[in-house]
Amino acid sequence: MFRFALLLSAALVLSLPSRADQAVLDQKFDALIHPDDLRGWMQTMASEPNHVGSPHDKANAEFELARFKQWGWDARIETFQILYPTPISETAELIGATPFKATLREPPIPSDPSSAHMASALPAYVAYQGDGDVQGGLVYVNYGMKDDYETLARLGVDVRGKIVIARYGKGWRGLKPKLAQEHGAAGCLIYSDPEEDGYAVEKTYPDGPMRPPHGVQRGSVADMTLYPGDPLTPGVAPLPGAKRLKREDAQTILKIPVLPISYADAQVFLAALGGPVAPADWRGALPITYHVGPGTAEVHLAVKSDWSMKTIYDVIAVMHGDTYPDQWVVRGNHHDGWVFGASDPLSGQVALMAEAQAIGALVRQGWHPKRTLVYTSWDAEEPMLVGSTAWAQTHYDELRKKAVLYINSDNSSRGVLGAAGSHDFQHVVNEVAAGITDPETHATIAARKRAGIRIDALADDATDQDTTNAKLVAQSGHDFPLGALGSGSDYSPFLQHLGLPAINLQFEGEGDQSGIYHSAYDTFTHHSTWVDPGFIYDALLAKTAGHLVLRVSESDLPLQRAGDFSEMVNIYLQQIKKLADKKREEAETRTQLLRDQAYVLAADPQHPMRPPPALDPVPYIDFAPLENAAKRLEIAAKTYDDALADKGASLTPESRTRLMALMQTIDQTLAPPLGLPGRPWYKNLIYAPGRFTGYGAKTLPGVREAIEERRWPDADRYAKLTADALDAYSARLAAATSVLEGKGS
Ligand SMILES: [Zn+2]
Repeated sequence: MFRFALLLSAALVLSLPSRADQAVLDQKFDALIHPDDLRGWMQTMASEPNHVGSPHDKANAEFELARFKQWGWDARIETFQILYPTPISETAELIGATPFKATLREPPIPSDPSSAHMASALPAYVAYQGDGDVQGGLVYVNYGMKDDYETLARLGVDVRGKIVIARYGKGWRGLKPKLAQEHGAAGCLIYSDPEEDGYAVEKTYPDGPMRPPHGVQRGSVADMTLYPGDPLTPGVAPLPGAKRLKREDAQTILKIPVLPISYADAQVFLAALGGPVAPADWRGALPITYHVGPGTAEVHLAVKSDWSMKTIYDVIAVMHGDTYPDQWVVRGNHHDGWVFGASDPLSGQVALMAEAQAIGALVRQGWHPKRTLVYTSWDAEEPMLVGSTAWAQTHYDELRKKAVLYINSDNSSRGVLGAAGSHDFQHVVNEVAAGITDPETHATIAARKRAGIRIDALADDATDQDTTNAKLVAQSGHDFPLGALGSGSDYSPFLQHLGLPAINLQFEGEGDQSGIYHSAYDTFTHHSTWVDPGFIYDALLAKTAGHLVLRVSESDLPLQRAGDFSEMVNIYLQQIKKLADKKREEAETRTQLLRDQAYVLAADPQHPMRPPPALDPVPYIDFAPLENAAKRLEIAAKTYDDALADKGASLTPESRTRLMALMQTIDQTLAPPLGLPGRPWYKNLIYAPGRFTGYGAKTLPGVREAIEERRWPDADRYAKLTADALDAYSARLAAATSVLEGKGS
C-alpha cells in the first residue's frame, strides 16, 4: 500500500520545478530587468514633490496603475480618507540680547534641476506633532533618549516648561518629543548634527552626498510604538463609516509643538546656551562648545497645521496564479515621499516596477505563476505606514487566510544585501542570494553578505548579536542569519499585527543617502550621482526580490525551515537571560556605591554631578516555561525539517495540499490575539519595534522589554505567554510532520 502510494505520487509530482527550472526562470526574469527603465521611472516620479495629498503623489499612483495594466496585471487603486496634517505656519526664534529667527528653509541648489520644482514642497515639519505657541528657556538634551534624561537629572537640569533641543540619532525621531513631553517640556526642536550625517562624515551636497548646512530631516512623530496607521482609527480600516476618534483623543498624536531644524539654524540656538558644559559623549561636530543650558535667551516656538482629512492612493496589482490561486505572494513598497522622494522610497519602488514589468513579459511569453502575485504600491508610508496599515486592516481576514509571505522594500543604494524578517524563511533568502552576482565585485551577494557579517563583528560598537552572527556564518554550510524586523517600513502591519511572515530587502552601506534623508535634497540628481549611479543596485534589488517572489510562487512544498527559527529563538532566549543577570548585578553594584558615598566622593566638587537613584533589586525571572518551549521547538523543528527533506518530494497531491495548508499559516501562531503589554495592536511575540528604540527591533519583546523597563510581573507573565506561542508553533510542526510521515491520512 505504502509502496504503491509512493509510486503513484512519483508520477504526480513530475510537475515539481527542479532547481534547474528555477534557474532558467530566474535567468529569463533577469534578462527583462533594464536599469534604464528604472532610471526613467524615477526621473518621472521624482520630478515634483510627491508627499501625501500632493497632485504628483496621486499622479504617480495613476502612472503606476497604467503601467501595471499595460504589463498585463489586474490592477486597481484603493483609496482611504485619513487624518494628515500639513503646516500652515511655523516659527522658531531666539528672544533675548541677540535675537535670531530660524530660517526653516532649504535653499535650492543651482546644479540640481529639481530645485526649480520646490515651489509646491511643504515646509520642513514633523507630522502629528501637537501644534501650539510656546515660549521658554532652552535645554540641550543630547539624543533626547531615556538615559539622557537620567544624566540631566544628575546634572540638576530640569526641562519642565522649557523648550528642548535634541539631535537626531540613537533612537527613533518620535521618541524625542514624546520623552520631552513626558518630562514636562513645553516644546521640542530636533536638529541634524553634522557628526551624524553632515560634513563630519563626507563632503556635503552637491560636492558630496552628505547633509548641507540647511538640510532638514522631516518625518513622522506619530507614536508608532503604540500603533501605526491613521491615528483616528486604531485597529480598524479607515473606510467610510468607520468609528473615528477625535483628534485630541488619538493617543499617537503629540500634545506639544515640535519642529525639525537644520544644523545651520541649530548652531545659533546651541551657541546661546549656558549652564554646564555638555558631557563628552553629548558633543557633536559643530564648531562650538556644547552646553546643556539653560541660558539667558528664551525660545519662541509656534506651529499651526491644517488638520483636514486627505485621500490616499494604494495601487494594487494582481497576477492570478494558475495552480494555487488562493495562495498569495504579496510584494510591496511605498510611493509617497517627503519632497521628491528619489532614494526614499522611489529607489525601491522602481525595482518593484521592474519586477512587475518582467513578470508581465514572462506571462506574455506563456509562463504563468502558480500562486497569485499581489504587487502593492503604498501611499502614506511616511506619515506612519498609513496606506499599508489601512489595506492590511481592510483585507485582514483574506490576508490571514491567503498570504504566504509579504516581501517589502523601501530605499536602497549601492552596497551589500540587507535582509531581515521571519527566520523560518531564512534559507530561501540564502538560496536566492547565492544565485545573484554583485555587479562590482563579481562575488555572489551571499558571499559579500557573509564576509560583511564577519568583519562587522570586529567593530568597537559590535553588539552581542553581531558576534553571534559572525560565529554562525563562520561555520561551514551555515546560512547568513536574517536580521530581526522592528518597524520603519510597510512590513510592520503584516508581520506584527496580522502575524504573517515578512521579509524586508535592500542594498545598503556604500551609496550614501543618510545625509539627504527626508530632505528636499533627496532628488533624482542626488540618487543618480551619489547613491546608485547607473541604477545598477536598484536593478539588483529587482532581481533579488523578484527571485524571492518567483521561488515562493513556484514552490510545491512549504519553504519554511523551522530549524533556522528555532536556532534564533534559542539565541534570543540566551540574550534575555543574560540581560536579567546584568540588570541584577547593576542594581547590586549601584546599591553598594550609593551606600559607600562613592558617587559623591568621586565627583568634581566644582562640577557637581548628583548620584543616580537606587535601583530596585532584580528578582529571579521564571524562564523555565520559555526554556522548555524552546527545547520542544528545537526537537519539533528538527523532526519536521528532516521529514520534509526525506519525504516532501514524494507526497501525494492530497497530502501536499494538507501540508501546505498547515504551514501557510504557521507563523500566525506567534501572534496570538492578546498583544504586547500596553500596546495590544502589536500581536507578534517574537518581533516588535522597541518602545524605547522605535524602529529598532526587540525580539521576544514581551519579556525583553519587561526586563529592560523593570516590569518584573510582566516578565514572568510574558515568558509563559511567549512559551505558549512557541508551543503552538511546535504543535503545528508536529501536525505537519504527521502528514509527511503519512500518519492520519
Ligand atoms: Zn521610505
